[in-house]
Amino acid sequence: MAKVVHKFGGSSLSSAARYHAVANIVLAHSQAGDLVVVSAAGKTTDTLVKLWQTFEQQDLHSGMDVISLLRNHQQELIQELLSGKRKAQVLIQLEQELTQVWQAFEQGNLQEAALLAHGELWSARLLSAYLQQLGVEAQALDARQLLCAPQGQLLHRVNEQQCQRLIGADKINVITGFIAADQQGQTVTLGRNGSDYSATLFARYMDVDEVCIWTDTQGVFSTDPRKVASAQKYHKICRAQAQLLAALGNPVLHAKTLSPLHGTNIKLAVRSSYDSDALGTEVVREGGCKHKHFITTLAQQDVIKVHQLEQGELEQLRRQLQTSLIACDVKGVWHLVVPQQHSGELLHHFGERAQLLESNVNGFALVAPQRELEKCQQQVKQGLSELNLNGRFSYLGEGYSLQLTDEEIGADSLGYLHQRLLGAQRQLAVVVAGLGNVGEVFVAQFAQQLARLRQHIDVKVVALVRSETLLFDPCGIDTEQWQTAWEQNAQPYTHDELLSRLAQLDYEHKVVIDITASEAFSQLYPQFAKADCHLISANKYAGTAPLVWYQSLKQELAQRNLQWRYNTSVGAGLPINFALADLQNSGDRVTRVQGVFSGTLSWLCSQYDGSESFSQLLLKAQELGFTEPDPREDLSGRDVQRKLLILARELGLELELNDIELSALMPSQLAAGTWLECQGKLDALDEFVATRAQQAAVEQKVLRYNADLRIEQGKVEAKVGLVAVPTSDPLAGLQPGDNIFVVNSNWYQDNALVIQGPGAGKEVTAAGVHSDLYWLASKLS
Ligand code: ADP
Ligand code: ASP
Ligand code: MG
Repeated sequence: MAKVVHKFGGSSLSSAARYHAVANIVLAHSQAGDLVVVSAAGKTTDTLVKLWQTFEQQDLHSGMDVISLLRNHQQELIQELLSGKRKAQVLIQLEQELTQVWQAFEQGNLQEAALLAHGELWSARLLSAYLQQLGVEAQALDARQLLCAPQGQLLHRVNEQQCQRLIGADKINVITGFIAADQQGQTVTLGRNGSDYSATLFARYMDVDEVCIWTDTQGVFSTDPRKVASAQKYHKICRAQAQLLAALGNPVLHAKTLSPLHGTNIKLAVRSSYDSDALGTEVVREGGCKHKHFITTLAQQDVIKVHQLEQGELEQLRRQLQTSLIACDVKGVWHLVVPQQHSGELLHHFGERAQLLESNVNGFALVAPQRELEKCQQQVKQGLSELNLNGRFSYLGEGYSLQLTDEEIGADSLGYLHQRLLGAQRQLAVVVAGLGNVGEVFVAQFAQQLARLRQHIDVKVVALVRSETLLFDPCGIDTEQWQTAWEQNAQPYTHDELLSRLAQLDYEHKVVIDITASEAFSQLYPQFAKADCHLISANKYAGTAPLVWYQSLKQELAQRNLQWRYNTSVGAGLPINFALADLQNSGDRVTRVQGVFSGTLSWLCSQYDGSESFSQLLLKAQELGFTEPDPREDLSGRDVQRKLLILARELGLELELNDIELSALMPSQLAAGTWLECQGKLDALDEFVATRAQQAAVEQKVLRYNADLRIEQGKVEAKVGLVAVPTSDPLAGLQPGDNIFVVNSNWYQDNALVIQGPGAGKEVTAAGVHSDLYWLASKLS
């Protein structure tokens, strides 16, 4: 039983390398019985259309040139993909077909649809042969044997039987998209971009679970992502809006793609054959997601005014012309917007009933939630005058607004309109993980931050996550009342559940803010990235994970245009990460970063003057909440080592944790056993510190727990440990508990750049996390 129909458009089959990628997708995502519907490779249909035009103009010379173009392109694909007998056979077949085409051209009996069909026939044959060569059981099928469509009317019952009969349950069926036959067996087509429609028709006839449209973008975006880099990918769009977009001539889905799916549960997804891991767009039933905003361009259109339309006439014309035909009811008079190449045929059809109102106009359509349309249209008008575009015709339809102009809407204008109209509509979903000291303050500060964040993007907290319990509300949690909601609605959860809810989350942007100290939670980051979440971490584990893991996470994030901020993982709210990034961005080269990076060790070292034993001070610090529950976490220096690694990686150094030499602020015998057991051995700690402090005092120095990274002439030296510094050193004058970062660079060679201040504390840390969130919000706007 077929489960899935995969459809690969021309953009997915434009070169041998793309065929190779497609074969890999088929291998990974399909099973015997599945259908693979293909379009013509690259721009082959356009080239065939050109050939048809040369035929109509009886331009033999140009016709010959176009045939050569087609031959070369196909031969190149075949040569690169196939070998041996298979290759020879496919090459012979190609040559025979081209010879027949040429004969028909010369004899004047070329058929348009039969000519255009070659693109899909070649693709299906080549992909199936290539799959066979890879050892896959595959067959090529010509859709003209499966789809009967006399006068554009599909005979569903007949077609279904044919499909059930000819589609093999034990192999991969590679089928031509776009084409069908009439009852006499003559070729007909389903219109430009019609392979999407073929795919959903087959899906209905074979009752599959899912149709996957593989193309060259990661899904359906707020506007053409190839023209506007800030276009927003939507994970879900509803069928009605997809249909509307298609009807407005947007190429990502063909106008009729949705119709075979009415009343079925067949899933429809748009995904990228260039990045098959990326989450695509799911086209869901009405009500399955919120309505989104889109802007789609129109080019070379005519507007025809029609005084009287007969019932069903529009439908029949759409079928006949196989093109988008936008019908606007302007006070009882129909205005039809149609691609220019079809307007002659339309005018001819209507005769006296019609007149050409506008010729060769361009423009765009905006698709938006109904209640926002009018406001959007006003903004459009303003945008048009700001861009000095000359409006020719505008119309407010059901769910869309149309704006036709003299000028073509280039990428820059589209980008401007997109930003103007859609910038304000986007939302960022915030997930806060970790509701300890810092997490609680972070949430408490949220309400007062909202107005500032909303200058850039609308923000909603959708989830609060503790280690075992989760409060999730896709509509947004009131952060001022979260405790009540928590008590009523928080639920136990598994990581898989959390990930799947995040992947489902229907927001333009999402961010996971990790304020946990959990290594296990940090290990979910790659999966958060796969669910298209930006990351903000106060947690240090991911930033100090093994290099291979860390780099692959960075790569995953970069590929998806996702941001990762971890300002508070070092120095709490102190802007050390900003400073380092800024120095590098402005062309400086950092040669040394050193200082005191641990608030706890800073407090202990600054307080220690020998009047009280070190262990007494330690217990006091513990009581004051300055230490980790097991203070050896602090004394081991591991935490400082992690912070230094994060800064080193920030500077582009490929270091592992163990590349940083570490000596603890305690004797090694204290490392074993539980903290409770160690409390009997604290004399050893006191002795350890006292000897070093006395030695330092002799030299008029004091002890500081220091992290030090030097980069000199390509050599990197990194270490963390106790040092004795002269009393004149900035480290010596540190306030107890403060952090200090001393940076030397080409510009700050002799006189270092110093950042100093509280390096711990829930308020400053939470504020630092807000600073990261604000940065993200402004970046997204
Ligand atoms: P295929 O060859 O796979 O059928 P098409 O070229 O027909 O692909 O359609 C995909 C193209 O649609 C993309 O390359 C992109 O340039 C364009 N496009 C226009 N608007 C959008 C949109 N809103 N979302 C995604 N793609 C869009
Ligand atoms: N090859 C046809 C076209 O270019 C059909 C398709 O790509 O869907 O229009
Ligand atoms: Mg297409």
